[in-house]
Amino acid sequence: MRIKVVLSLLCFILVICCSEKKPVDSMTDEQLRAFANELAQTFIIADGHVDFPERLKEQKIVLTEETKSIVLSDIGGEFDYERSIKGGLNAPFMSIYIPSSYQKQNDSGKAFADSLINNVQAMVSLFPDKFALANTPTEVEVNFKAGRISLPMGMENGAPIGNDLTNVKYFYDRGIRYITLTHSKDNQICDSSGDTTRTWKGLSPFGKEVVAEMNRIGIMVDVSHVDDSTFYQVMKVTKAPCIASHSSCRAFAPTVRRDMTDDMIKKLGENGGVMMINYYNAFIDSAVVNRNKVNREKLNTLLTEKGLGINDVEAKPIVEQFKKDNPSLKSDINMVANHIDHVVKLAGIDHVGIGSDFDGVEGDLPTGLEDVSSYPNLIYTLLKRGYTKEDIAKICYKNLWRVWNKVEEAKGS
Ligand SMILES: [Zn+2]
Repeated sequence: MRIKVVLSLLCFILVICCSEKKPVDSMTDEQLRAFANELAQTFIIADGHVDFPERLKEQKIVLTEETKSIVLSDIGGEFDYERSIKGGLNAPFMSIYIPSSYQKQNDSGKAFADSLINNVQAMVSLFPDKFALANTPTEVEVNFKAGRISLPMGMENGAPIGNDLTNVKYFYDRGIRYITLTHSKDNQICDSSGDTTRTWKGLSPFGKEVVAEMNRIGIMVDVSHVDDSTFYQVMKVTKAPCIASHSSCRAFAPTVRRDMTDDMIKKLGENGGVMMINYYNAFIDSAVVNRNKVNREKLNTLLTEKGLGINDVEAKPIVEQFKKDNPSLKSDINMVANHIDHVVKLAGIDHVGIGSDFDGVEGDLPTGLEDVSSYPNLIYTLLKRGYTKEDIAKICYKNLWRVWNKVEEAKGS
């Protein structure tokens, strides 16, 4: 009897081990797709950057009873509830994006940031059974178990902090859990990769205080968009691991300063941080970058010949026709997987995640990753490349969880 029990126990262990190992090698393509779908639904999927609040703002939509259906199944755009459910998305960081134009005015964008935060909160109030706010990984997990999509928030551009450090706590209290130090222009905190002014040659003196205050309050420091000089200074002064909420590897698009160099990726790994890969075609593939550059120059020549500027009303039909005749090149899902491979090679599997930039790049996305229903496609591609279930769990959420928890634990110290 005892032997029988031991034998059946051994059989059970064998079955478990085999089913763990079975996947990739022995599965048909259809089975692999089904397995990828299953993993997308089993694991929490966190995305470091979704620009849905910005899309609402652009379309001048304030969420009310009358307009709320746009959240459920919108036509156009890349994020909505139905597609999130299909794709297994559980924690899209809603980007509270502050355009650089605010830095030129007296208004630092604080009220603008508040209005975007209000819209995210409205999503939760209007659909309490579908969405919930989340301030910690544990809260995301509670929401996940209750079948609700979490809407954590990250502020893209520290401009709204103004020159007042107490605003760091203000935004923490409003639910902001990461701040991208700047956007496409230098601001009061630091230099941007999109600017050539090099105002501070990295972090400003105030910017150093902002990073320290973010560490103290428990907000993740986001190094996406910053200039290389800023990045290296942040690595020196931060007391907690950082994130790049939506950044790709410069190795695949050498002229894109918005992307991270190999050395920066290694440093972020040493910092214990996580780099969440941006899908934007122009950030992931130099073939696309070059083709778009040629197209831009051709269009400029065409408009100059006609004495028009790109923003002139008369230029609009010409621009539209040109875009039809010269469609921009698209990259594909394999290129995004190449970026993931690259980070893994440089920094290790513990330092990579997903930061799609959905709704932030005007639909200029690689084939196979068109919207929030596409996470299973990425998982399928990674499985085919030999990533294990645990690797995929790390990419989907565990790496970000480690950083987010560490930042929470380190606060106040
Ligand atoms: Zn961005």
